[in-house]
Amino acid sequence: MGKRFIFFIIISLFFNTMVLAAPGAQLYYHQGHLCDQIVFYCPQQLSVVHGKTNFRQNGRALVREEYVIKGCLISSDEVMHALGRINGNGTYCRVTKGADGRIKLVFKYDPTQVTISRHDFESIQRSKGIVFMVEKKNKMVPRTSSKPVIALDCGHGGKDFGTTGIGGVLEKDLALAIGKKVERVLRKQGYVVNMTRNDDRFISLDNRTTKANKGQADLFLSLHINYSPRQEVSGIETFCCNGNLYAPKVKMFAQKDSQSAGLGEAIQQSVVQTVRQKHSLNDRRCKRSVSQVLMGTQMPSALIELGFCSNPQESARLNSVAYQELLAQGISKGIHQYLKQI
Ligand SMILES: [Zn+2]
Repeated sequence: MGKRFIFFIIISLFFNTMVLAAPGAQLYYHQGHLCDQIVFYCPQQLSVVHGKTNFRQNGRALVREEYVIKGCLISSDEVMHALGRINGNGTYCRVTKGADGRIKLVFKYDPTQVTISRHDFESIQRSKGIVFMVEKKNKMVPRTSSKPVIALDCGHGGKDFGTTGIGGVLEKDLALAIGKKVERVLRKQGYVVNMTRNDDRFISLDNRTTKANKGQADLFLSLHINYSPRQEVSGIETFCCNGNLYAPKVKMFAQKDSQSAGLGEAIQQSVVQTVRQKHSLNDRRCKRSVSQVLMGTQMPSALIELGFCSNPQESARLNSVAYQELLAQGISKGIHQYLKQI
C-alpha cells in the first residue's frame, strides 16, 4: 500500500510538471498606433470571468475592466516579460498571475479615447486563444516617409533555428540570406524597407509586429522555409490572415484581411511565375492561417514558405545564391504588383 502511494505521488508529480510545462500556452503583446493586442494561447478550454465598473479620477470618467482567465498555463517568465511592456497611451493595463495559475488582466481607460473588446478563436493547431483588442480612437500619427514602406521579416534567428534541412541547412540562415536580397532589390526600386532583423539574432514575434506597426508599414511580409518529414514534399506556399477571426466585429481588420488575401495571391503568383522560368515548381497556392505575425500586424500581411529544406532538390536550390536571387526577384515583383493594384 505504502509503495503504491509513493508511486502515485511520483506519477502525480510527473504529470503536474508536464501540465505546468504545457506546450502552446503563450502570451503575446502586439503594439501599434491604432491598437494594441494582448493574445493568450492555451492548450485547453478557458473560462473567463469579466467585471466592469465606472469610476472618476481627477474629474475624468474612466472605466475599469477586469478579466480573470482560468486554465491558461502561462509561465511566470512570460507574464513578467509582458508586464514590462504592457502600458501606455492613456490606458493602464496590468497582468498578474495568481498562485492557482489564474491570470488577472485589469484595464483602466478613458472610454472616449479607447475601446476594448474580447474575441475568442481557435488556432490551426486547435489550441484556444483569446485576444483583447485595445483600439485607440484618433491616434493616427502622420508618417514621415512619402515612399511606400515595406516591413520585411526574416523568420527565426539567434537561438531560434527554425527548421533544419538536408545537410544541416538552417531555416534562419536561408530566410536572412533571401531577405537581404529582397531588401536590396526593393531599395533599388525606391521603396523604404524596414527589416525586423539584419543579422543572426533572436527577436520575439510580438517585437517583430510592434516594429512593423510603429513604422506604419504599408505591408508586412514574413519569409520562411518549410519542412516535411516526407522528403518528396516540395513547393512554395503563402499564408495570409484568416478573415473570420475578428471581422466584422473589429472594422479596421475587415479591410486588412481582404487586402492581405490580395497581397498573398500577388506574391505567390509572382514567385511561382518567376521560378518557373528556370525550374519546375510545385505551386502550393495561397492559404488562410492564424499565425502570430499575421495576427499582430495592423497592415496587409502575408507569410511565404519559399520551399522545403527537407526535399533534396529544393534544399540544394535554396542554398544557391542564383536561386535566392530568383526568389528575391519574384517576391519584389509581387510586392510591386500588389501596390500598383490598390
Ligand atoms: Zn519558419
